[in-house]
Amino acid sequence: MGDLSKNFNRSEFACKGKNCCGHSAAVHPDLVDALQALRDRIGKPLSITSGFRCNRHNQAVGGAEQSFHTLGMAADVSCPAGVSPDALAVIAEEIPLFREGGIGVYASWVHLDVRQSGKARWRS
Ligand SMILES: [Zn+2]
Ligand SMILES: [Zn+2]
Repeated sequence: MGDLSKNFNRSEFACKGKNCCGHSAAVHPDLVDALQALRDRIGKPLSITSGFRCNRHNQAVGGAEQSFHTLGMAADVSCPAGVSPDALAVIAEEIPLFREGGIGVYASWVHLDVRQSGKARWRS
């Protein structure tokens, strides 16, 4: 049982930067709702490799200046065994908050965000 939802804990979203914000974790409730819906559909644990990023950490990893990670509205999710990034993205399209938000497909993970400024899709 997570402290944010059935399967997710706030600590999973904490900033992973060193010597930056003290690992604070701003998490938008829409992001938690959408990730939980995705987790329920996949039926496997989802590992968040990057959730909230403070501005300093975001700069350190070369994130976009207006990255939704800095707003607690984005998560990079590594693919569970047997699920390709493309397959994960297709399932994410079934979740309205992600369908109307951002989905980026990378080699072994997928970026998901719940932006409300219009949908965005990209591939690395
Ligand atoms: Zn930080
Ligand atoms: Zn991302």
